[in-house]
Amino acid sequence: MSFSKVEALARGELESLQFDRLGFTLEQAFKTPFYRGRLKEAGIGEDFRPGSWEEFQRLPFTVKDDLRAAYPVGLLAEPHEKIVRLHASSGTTGIPTVIYHTKDDLSSWAGLVRRSLCAAGAGESDVFQNMMTYGLFTGGFGLHYGAEELGMLVIPTGAGNTMRQFRMMRDFKTTIVHATPSYLLHIHEKMREEGIGREELFLRKAIVGGEPHSEDTRRKIEELLKIDVYNCYGLSELNGPGVAFECVHKAGMHLWEDAYIMEIIDPDTLLPLPDGETGELVCTTLQRNATPLIRYRTRDLTRIIAEPCACGRTHRRIARIMGRSDDMLIINGVNVFPSQIEEVLMRSRGIGSNYQIIVEKAGALDKLTVKTEIASSAFSDDTRSMNALTRYIKEALKASISINPAVELHEPGILPVWEGKATRVIDTR
Ligand SMILES: [Zn+2]
Repeated sequence: MSFSKVEALARGELESLQFDRLGFTLEQAFKTPFYRGRLKEAGIGEDFRPGSWEEFQRLPFTVKDDLRAAYPVGLLAEPHEKIVRLHASSGTTGIPTVIYHTKDDLSSWAGLVRRSLCAAGAGESDVFQNMMTYGLFTGGFGLHYGAEELGMLVIPTGAGNTMRQFRMMRDFKTTIVHATPSYLLHIHEKMREEGIGREELFLRKAIVGGEPHSEDTRRKIEELLKIDVYNCYGLSELNGPGVAFECVHKAGMHLWEDAYIMEIIDPDTLLPLPDGETGELVCTTLQRNATPLIRYRTRDLTRIIAEPCACGRTHRRIARIMGRSDDMLIINGVNVFPSQIEEVLMRSRGIGSNYQIIVEKAGALDKLTVKTEIASSAFSDDTRSMNALTRYIKEALKASISINPAVELHEPGILPVWEGKATRVIDTR
């Protein structure tokens, strides 16, 4: 397997490249009204150039609300004539976040995507069908240009219209698709319904992104469609897809450290965590002209895998995203993520899919109660077996979250059902 020299730089060389490029990012940042104010507030002068990670940590964080407050041009570092594209994400509050790109920005983004696709084993003889939405959302365009740069034949079908997707896949012998995991499952379902045989397709790989999913979902897609599935990570504030990508070893995503400085912080104390510990991913852009970002808090929770990868690339990997830091609960001083609780419940036999997490004050302490329904198939009047199930779940939860929760099992259909996004956590403290 071949890859560029920068992907295999020794740690020391990679870090000195990062500090070099950080100087450029700071220069760009001082051209924006937002950072001029923010950096001045933090006592950072225009000539400040960190020489160590301790010094680097003097730089202030940037959060999504800063991007909204700076809308529409507060974070623009280049004159209008230099800007060739923007992407925006709407979010739920109405004010979008906007990221501008110069020609150079787009070309370095395409370069990152090209190398990402190479890492996943794509080559110029592949036919790439992009089933992600094209538009302000970055999923479509993001992979499109990198795939072209790699030399693949790119079919920009966009999302939806599954029958047309099949026709394209069959007639143009598509070998790689880019889609959300749920769409790939839908495709499999549709193949069964329409009687389309696997042998009619030439598919060998899928790149999945756009929504969180478990390792079990990946394996399921791989088995059903008989393909290799690779994870990619990105968010619109950091260009979009192409921030981190799995190589053929599928053991975490290489985060391209020549383009981003990554940190993992405790979302509560904001202090950096050592490699291997789960916390919030924070990224600083190193190659962006138009919209530089310094210590941007992604809210995504992951950990750094620092051990060398079998592929030989030296850029450290991040593990699958395990949730959002906004969801974190602090219970008697311990950080707990609802996703950890959900994971334990989902792999416990005899448990249904509906549950609730209740956090309340009990005297000076916090009390955690996990209510869950028993699966209809496992429900019984035998108190002994129900008690054993309760004990089992209590133990499994304790092992996962280091807290001793109260566990209540309920008959199927007792807990409230939500239409749309479920409210699983009730915190009355
Ligand atoms: Zn690798």
